[in-house]
Amino acid sequence: MSSIIQLLPDHVANQIAAGEVVQRPASVVKELMENAVDAKATDIKLIIKDAGKSLIQVIDNGIGMNITDSRLCFERHATSKIRHAEDLFSLHTKGFRGEALASIAAIAHVEMKTKQEQDELGTHLIIEGSKFVSQEPAVLPKGTSFAVKNLFFNIPARRNFLKSDTVEQRYIVDEFQRVAMAHPNIHFTMYHNGSEMFNLPISNFRQRIVNIFSGKTNEKLVPVKEETEIVNLHGFIGKPEFSKKNRGEQFFFVNNRFIKSGYLHHAVMAAYEGLLKDGCQPSYFLYLDVPPHTIDINIHPTKTEIKFDDEHALYAILRSSIKHSLGQFNVAPVLDFDRDPNLDTPYQYQNKEAEYPTIQVDRSFNPFSEDTRSIADKPAKSFSSSYQKTEAQPSWESLYVGLKQATHDIAEMAFENEAVTSSLFEENEIEQEAKRTYQIHKKYIVSPIKSGMVIINQKRAHERVLYEEFLTSMTVHQASSQQMLFPLQLYYSTSEIELLAELKSSLENTGFVFESINEDHVMISGLPVNVSESEISIVLEELLSDLQDGIPDNSFSQNDTIAKSMAKSLAVKTGTYLNEKEQENLVHNLFACREPNVSPFQKPTFITMSVEDLDKKFSV
Ligand code: ADP
Ligand code: MG
Repeated sequence: MSSIIQLLPDHVANQIAAGEVVQRPASVVKELMENAVDAKATDIKLIIKDAGKSLIQVIDNGIGMNITDSRLCFERHATSKIRHAEDLFSLHTKGFRGEALASIAAIAHVEMKTKQEQDELGTHLIIEGSKFVSQEPAVLPKGTSFAVKNLFFNIPARRNFLKSDTVEQRYIVDEFQRVAMAHPNIHFTMYHNGSEMFNLPISNFRQRIVNIFSGKTNEKLVPVKEETEIVNLHGFIGKPEFSKKNRGEQFFFVNNRFIKSGYLHHAVMAAYEGLLKDGCQPSYFLYLDVPPHTIDINIHPTKTEIKFDDEHALYAILRSSIKHSLGQFNVAPVLDFDRDPNLDTPYQYQNKEAEYPTIQVDRSFNPFSEDTRSIADKPAKSFSSSYQKTEAQPSWESLYVGLKQATHDIAEMAFENEAVTSSLFEENEIEQEAKRTYQIHKKYIVSPIKSGMVIINQKRAHERVLYEEFLTSMTVHQASSQQMLFPLQLYYSTSEIELLAELKSSLENTGFVFESINEDHVMISGLPVNVSESEISIVLEELLSDLQDGIPDNSFSQNDTIAKSMAKSLAVKTGTYLNEKEQENLVHNLFACREPNVSPFQKPTFITMSVEDLDKKFSV
């Protein structure tokens, strides 16, 4: 029998290998940027069109390649970075596998221009789907430019698998930021669809972080520094009171390479123990320099996870130095350690007029107490304001246009799955009985009904009420909003600003009024009626964190996501005292909902117990 095993042709092998290296446009961004860093560039430009689906271009002023190398670099396992297996243990470069360019060229149209400093002419080379199309001498500046067009043109399945432009763009920004944060000694710029998104001049680490994450970041940062034999640790951690609900600003860099490590994250969290409010996450930007032979970066193909020789020691060092920094900060909260004079004019502000700096110190902040005050005041307020709204606008039958049902027609509401609920609160019962609702453990509201009793989960019930209110105002486009006396200025990172810009019109349908959306902040001049000014930053922050995995594509699910997130943020929390009027209104509003029996997250909002159920319990 003839042999059936064959060697795969190179272009097929490359296409298969490409699947591992290039998952999405952001993977190309990472590989090209890392190559530019390895080529010792001091200026790197990233140009993106349509979230990388039509163009990803990286231009550097690094060492370039000669004619031979400019062809060789597209071969598989072609690398200038290691020669012997031992070199793997003393790596100082990002790349070493020699796979990236071969992979990218297999699944895209690539145009490369490159010139070395000493050469008169450079090379202009075109390669499409692993096939060389042309190579010509050209007059070029020193350095290399890679333009990657029509990614996945020959793998339609992969192309169709890509997410929306917003999501892909966020992945790209993430990669860009990670490389830029690790190399403040390189000038990075990024353009998307013709407009400049980032321009990060050469600076120090602190300035680089501030330039990426907006000017406000500076006051949040506390420096960390520790030099030991196994690691040199430096970087910054966020003051506990600036902690956020999401994990967006947590970065480890090992030998200037971004990595993920659940174990080291745990060490950081251990250092913050007792200092964070429930569910809050601190920011951190930590750089660990370790001897290259003590790590193995080979264990993960996309290289964001690495293995350390001495993880336990790293854990201990990290935890204690962060604790130390936090301790220093707690003793003298107003002092800004290590103040960097360059920061007095953060890059984005160079053309703006000087403002007096303000220092905000939360004097009531006590890391060891639960924040009972704000929990007690805040949601109760939101609750009563939503109650007013319902009274002022009995016309909320407009819910899901076409459904006609007045709020007081509770008796007519037909609840499909629970026969008992159809007779909840008959009109005369409402008027006659003096006290009909009881709050239990600041968590449940109990009320007698004809057949027995109903027990309502106050938080979930309020989520349902708010959710339907927001959906109504968004679908009928007639949210009322409260004008603010002074517009509110809120700072966000570039990617958060992008998300907000994308959501602007949906948010405006809930009652928000955005006066402007700027490079690193938004100006808000109007709020939905049931949101108070003090809640606004939490509401938006939670919304952004709920959207971390991308904005849903169609506007219906966009509205749904926003309504859910805002309902969750604004709902009266467990542990909040509700007065009688508030209890009654909650019950009333819940049963006027279209789907009263579940929260927007499909959890039951209430249970009923019949007299028979009670009898049974007593019949023992
Ligand atoms: P690796 O980075 O793992 O070596 P790549 O496929 O990414 O593999 O690149 C192959 C080789 O091409 C590199 O080793 C380097 O010699 C050369 N190269 C790639 N990009 C550049 C660049 N921007 N400037 C100079 N040389 C480059
Ligand atoms: Mg590389």
